Amino acid sequence: MTTTAPRLLQVRRTARVTPRMVRVTLGGDELRGFPGDGPDRRIKMFFPAPGQERPAVPRASTAGPVWPAGEARPTMRTYTVRRFDPAAGELDVDFVLHGEGPATEWARDAAPGAWVGVSEPGGRWEPDPDADFQVVIGDETALPAVATVLDAIVDVPALVFVEVADAAEEQPLGREITWVHRGDAEPGVPLVAAVQGATFPAGRGQAWLSGESACVKELRQHLLRERGLDRRAVYATGYWRLRRS
Ligand SMILES: Cc1cc2nc3c(=O)[nH]c(=O)nc-3n(C[C@H](O)[C@H](O)[C@H](O)COP(=O)(O)OP(=O)(O)OC[C@H]3O[C@@H](n4cnc5c(N)ncnc54)[C@H](O)[C@@H]3O)c2cc1C
Repeated sequence: MTTTAPRLLQVRRTARVTPRMVRVTLGGDELRGFPGDGPDRRIKMFFPAPGQERPAVPRASTAGPVWPAGEARPTMRTYTVRRFDPAAGELDVDFVLHGEGPATEWARDAAPGAWVGVSEPGGRWEPDPDADFQVVIGDETALPAVATVLDAIVDVPALVFVEVADAAEEQPLGREITWVHRGDAEPGVPLVAAVQGATFPAGRGQAWLSGESACVKELRQHLLRERGLDRRAVYATGYWRLRRS
């Protein structure tokens, strides 16, 4: 099997969506044919190592990826396709400005023309047409994916919970959202409390949830044990891990 090499793209522009979220719009010849449609499409992004203008990216081969010899390997992080517009040749990725980290710092400082590598998108979540209701849960890192998941379930009742730092981080998503403000609490703790305290409709539910890993683990257990959702109906991904001292 031949793997597909990451595409090398360039920043076209950036915009602040909220005080702590920056939208980076990418473009370039290599975006042609990008299969970026659908809910919850995840990409690996390859950021240049210090001193590099472009990240070194592996070449595809039948034996797997082949890295260029003698070049520093890029930093890799996973992000979500927030929008892909083939006609405009544009791909949007929304980055949370969470403080320190190669990806968040790259996005904060990204200038038009900056290079970045983007893998083929993955992601297996699909709405169950027989679900009576949907449960969608996430934090700000999950907001880009939540938006695309909501686009895929427009006709189904949905309970949506999103934890953000404060009211300034809320984004209109065209659906009723229970916004949970973190304030000074540990990430994930207010979200767990909000979901545990909510009233769920009767019937067969399907759930999509992402965010801080410990919080996702706890909420997955809650949905299976206390809410009785079927194991196959709960799609949970830890997006990042809080460093506890
Ligand atoms: C499938 C998937 C999709 C994702 N989609 C998105 C997306 O669209 N947008 C997005 O912003 N993120 C997204 N993430 C999360 C993102 O990959 C992580 O937040 C990643 O750690 C950021 O890398 P970094 O280099 O900035 O920080 P790292 O070098 O990974 O971490 C540095 C420090 O920052 C802390 N940290 C990392 N993320 C956060 C955070 N959100 N809040 C507070 N502290 C944090 C870490 O605990 C660590 O102490 C996604 C993750 C996955 C698995």
